[in-house]
Amino acid sequence: MLCIPFVSHPNYSFNFPAKHRFPMDKFGLLQQRVRDLGLLTDDNLYTPSSCSAADLSVAHCPHYIRNFDLDELDVKAMRRMGLPWSEGLRTRTFLSPNGTLLAAELALEHGIACHLAGGTHHAHYEFGSGFCIFNDLAYAARKIILMGKARRILIFDCDVHQGDGTAAILQQDDDIYTCSVHCEKNFPHRKSTSNFDVGLSKGLSDSAYLDRVSETLAHCFTTFQPDFVLYDAGVDVWQHDPLGLLDISLDGIRRRERRVLNYCKDKRVPVATVIGGGYDKNQVALAQRHCIVAEVAHEVFVQGAN
Ligand SMILES: [Zn+2]
Repeated sequence: MLCIPFVSHPNYSFNFPAKHRFPMDKFGLLQQRVRDLGLLTDDNLYTPSSCSAADLSVAHCPHYIRNFDLDELDVKAMRRMGLPWSEGLRTRTFLSPNGTLLAAELALEHGIACHLAGGTHHAHYEFGSGFCIFNDLAYAARKIILMGKARRILIFDCDVHQGDGTAAILQQDDDIYTCSVHCEKNFPHRKSTSNFDVGLSKGLSDSAYLDRVSETLAHCFTTFQPDFVLYDAGVDVWQHDPLGLLDISLDGIRRRERRVLNYCKDKRVPVATVIGGGYDKNQVALAQRHCIVAEVAHEVFVQGAN
């Protein structure tokens, strides 16, 4: 393999209120960071097309899709979603689920692909929550199964927050296994039940965390025997993330990505990564953290490092 397939879109970042807690500029900054490191050129950049409402209905209630599309969600639903509606938000929201689907298809072809966005795991069947509107993980996993491109999909979610929306949407799907490794004290307070949940204690640091991640991934492989993995590489596990409560260093994040990606590679199971959560007023620094998974993908799958 000469280069990692990366998925992004120029409309992922758009003109967004600078004071808002959600770092909407990070997607554009991340794409730039991956380019600056020489990992991305126009030759290995793939851009998704917009999802239709019919596409999204594999994972979401048609009324909810319609109400978001037309900016007709009520105040309570908007507050729970946590993002102000705009044309720019609408555009990126209909693109990103197909970005994860495209990364999944590319990974199934090449062994690895990275979506430089995605991981909106708090989105439920009929409402948005915690900055998440449509659930790209549930959507892409179901589409891949429907397309017959994989038979048993593991969603391995290492964002610091539980993947409650993903777990709830996919509760009845026997061919998709949801696993969330999160900090128990973090949002959401009311957790869903994934196929396998690991609720970590507050303040956990690198060594114990990495052991839990490794043993959990091995448990998922032994129990479920996936033929495809969707990996949420959230960096809000970082020790100074304002919305996380773990004590994971930058090196700890890098080692986590090495463990997860090497494990999938060794098992010859294709893996697509999404960036998940990560928060910082300094969005350049944040983009550098989100870039770690792209760097490690290159290191493991292009350079063949262990
Ligand atoms: Zn998160």
